[in-house]
Order: sequence, then structure tokens, then C-alpha cells
Amino acid sequence: MNDGTHTVAMTPIYPGSEDAAGQKATLGVLGGGQLGRMFVHAAQRLGYFTAVLEPDAQSPAGRVSHYHIQTEYDDPAGLAQLAQLCQAITTEFENVPAQTLQTLALTRPVAPGAAVVAIAQNRIEEKAHFTACADVSGVSCAPYAVIETPAQLQAVQDDRADLLPGILKTARMGYDGKGQVRVKTAAELAAAWAELGSAACVLEKMLPLTDECSVLVARGWDGRVVSFAPQRNVHVEGILAVTHAYEGNMPLALADRARDAAVSIAHHLGYVGVLCVEFFVVEDGSEYGGLVVNEMAPRPHNSGHYTLDACDVSQFDLQVHAMAGLPLPQPRQHSPAIMLNLLGDVWFDADGQLQEPDWYSVLSLPGTHLHLYGKLQARPGRKMGHLTITGPDVASVKTVARRAAGLLGLPGLNAI
Ligand code: ATP
Ligand code: MG
Repeated sequence: MNDGTHTVAMTPIYPGSEDAAGQKATLGVLGGGQLGRMFVHAAQRLGYFTAVLEPDAQSPAGRVSHYHIQTEYDDPAGLAQLAQLCQAITTEFENVPAQTLQTLALTRPVAPGAAVVAIAQNRIEEKAHFTACADVSGVSCAPYAVIETPAQLQAVQDDRADLLPGILKTARMGYDGKGQVRVKTAAELAAAWAELGSAACVLEKMLPLTDECSVLVARGWDGRVVSFAPQRNVHVEGILAVTHAYEGNMPLALADRARDAAVSIAHHLGYVGVLCVEFFVVEDGSEYGGLVVNEMAPRPHNSGHYTLDACDVSQFDLQVHAMAGLPLPQPRQHSPAIMLNLLGDVWFDADGQLQEPDWYSVLSLPGTHLHLYGKLQARPGRKMGHLTITGPDVASVKTVARRAAGLLGLPGLNAI
């Protein structure tokens, strides 16, 4: 870790340039999901060639990229091919093996680096990092205890009001609320730990949340940082449903604190690339100072998809700029926006029959921007796309978002 002043020598990779072997500048991404696809779109718009490493033959990113290397993430031949094709490499998901990033980094610039991705992969290390920089960031995480051994489990008894009621979360591989169990008592905690396979976990105190928000930051090889204003996020059943992105989406003082905290967390990590930091807003008057840091994603984030349509520079543009050593422009939001996530549920009627959503009506509404990720099969809970609504003012954006959510039968309608 460093204090943010550390710099790595990085020669900019210009789009359209050729290396000594006559190969056009190519940017690589590990993972072929929707985040990889939107990265590929941004890179190609600038004129780069792209390569995606992804085992699935039908992936959203693989099918739009110049090159698709169809191997596992730890396949030596696949990694060698990726390094040979690409001048710089990034990742679209945090659970890529850290060893993979280390291997690639031996020959190519890799952003974000293996060490920071390893921190974001593990809630125990992530929370230790947040705690280590709390003095600088001004924001702590929820009170928590590491539960890796029976003795650590035993140490939490019913009188631990600092931890119970709480949420037991697996240290690794959790997403969209998976790998989490809510517990009120020590007995429930013991049962939950068994249910999670006695894996390494953190027990986190359940906090009285009033809101949730996230901040997207991009940091370059030279340590320079730009950021977006915080988005306010509404989750339904542990999955992001609605993002509110406009001035006044949360109290200004809190928004400023969250943004500053995210920037100092990125500096403290010596981060390069796009980082999303998620925060809880906690009931007024609580001992947590109103704001608590929850977790971070070492990549663009679902809550930042509105930047494609509402900002002059998107989170994916910044990912491209950061990894290629290009200047990082400070993004400017030109329209208030609401983003609605489109899960596979939208493709099923009340009787569970497949139906095509009424896109015609949705797209007839002003300021609607539909993004579908090219997934071949809709399944309940699967992220199929998103709809961003932009408009001249917040009131009209909300009106259109409510109509669109109503037409599509989306959850979270009352949260718009
Ligand atoms: P993601 O999809 O963001 O990766 P995740 O599975 O990693 O989700 P978290 O973000 O830790 O999980 O938690 C999911 C949701 O559960 C949060 O957005 C929040 O609504 C709720 N939650 C988590 N921790 C707490 C807490 N300590 N107190 C209250 N609510 C919480
Ligand atoms: Mg989360």
C-alpha cells in the first residue's frame, strides 16, 4: 500500500497505434459479462482493438470483441495468448484468481493490480483496509467480528449488543446478497455458520439504514483521481433495483463525505482503474456519524451504468483511459437520471410464461435509454439489461421512470 503519491511508469497506449510486430493497440478484459461488454464498447469507440478472456462461448462481451479467448481464467495458454495480444489488461469481476493478474502483470500493465483485487475479494481484508484508513477517510465500517474458528464463534454470546442482531457474511464469493444470513442470537449465529459450511465469515452488526449510496472513482497510474457524485441505490431482495443520480438525491454534506472517503480509500490502496465504494446511510443521531462504508468493487459497477447516458464521460470510458495511461477527464453529468435494472423476471408474465416486454411503449417515453446485454436466456434474478431515464429536471425523470417501471412491472416502483 502507499500514500497515494507513488507513481508507476506507464507509457500511454494510443488507440490505432502499432507495436513493433505491426499489431494494433489492443486492450484486454478478464470476464465476458455485461461489464466486459460495456468496457469493450467504450474501448472500441476510442479505436482500440479488444480481447476478452471468458470460458463461455455465448458471453455478452465475447460476442462483441475483436478477439475472444475461450479458456478458464487460470489457463496458462489462454493467459499467454491474452498477454501476447494486449498492451494492457483489466478485469470485469473481482473473483478472478489473484494469481492470474499476477501472471499477466509480469509482462503487461494490469489495472487494477492483483494485490488490490485480492483485498476486494475478501471481506476480512476489505474491512481491515477500511479500518486502517478510517482516520483519513473519515468513515468506518459497521462493527464486525471475524468468524473463522469455533473459538471466535463461541466468543459471540447473546449479550454482544455490539454485534447482534447481525448479518453473517461469507468472506469470499458473496454477491447480490448471496452467502449472507441474518441472525438475532448466538444460537442462530451458530446455525448460520454451519449453514455457510463453517467457511471464513464476518459477523456484522445490523445497522438501521435509511439509505444506501455508492461512489465511482477513477485513479490513474500517476495517482491522479477523478470521481462521480454519489448515486443513491435501492436494493430489492439483495439486488440493485433503482439508482437515483441527480443533485439532491441525498443531503449534500453526506454526499461530499462519501465522495471524499472513496477518493481517500482509492489513494490508500494505490489503486489504478475504476473503483466503486458502497456506503450505508445510517439513521440520524446514531453513533456512526451518519455514514458507514460497506464494501468496494474493483471495477465499474451496476450503480454507475447511468453514466453512459447522463454524463459526458462514462465509468467505462474512465476504465479505458485509466488502464491505457490516457489522461482522466473529470466527468460532468449533463442530465439528472434514474436507472432501473432489468432482471429476467421482466420476461415472464404472472403465470410464469415467457413474454417479450412491451419495449414499444417503454421506448415511446421521452428520455428512455434501453441497454440489453445480449444474454440468450432470461431467468428470474438474472441481470438482462437496464433502462436509464434522463430528462431536463428531476421531476420529469421521476415521472417517466415511474411509468416505465409500471409498464415493465418492475419492483421498487414505490422507491422512485
Ligand atoms: P453486492 O451485490 O453489492 O456485492 P453483497 O452480496 O456483497 O452485495 P452487501 O452489499 O454486503 O452484500 O449486502 C447486501 C445488502 O444487504 C446491502 O445492500 C444492504 O441493503 C443489506 N445489508 C448488508 N449489511 C448490512 C448491515 N450491516 N446492516 C443493515 N443492512 C445491511
Ligand atoms: Mg453490496
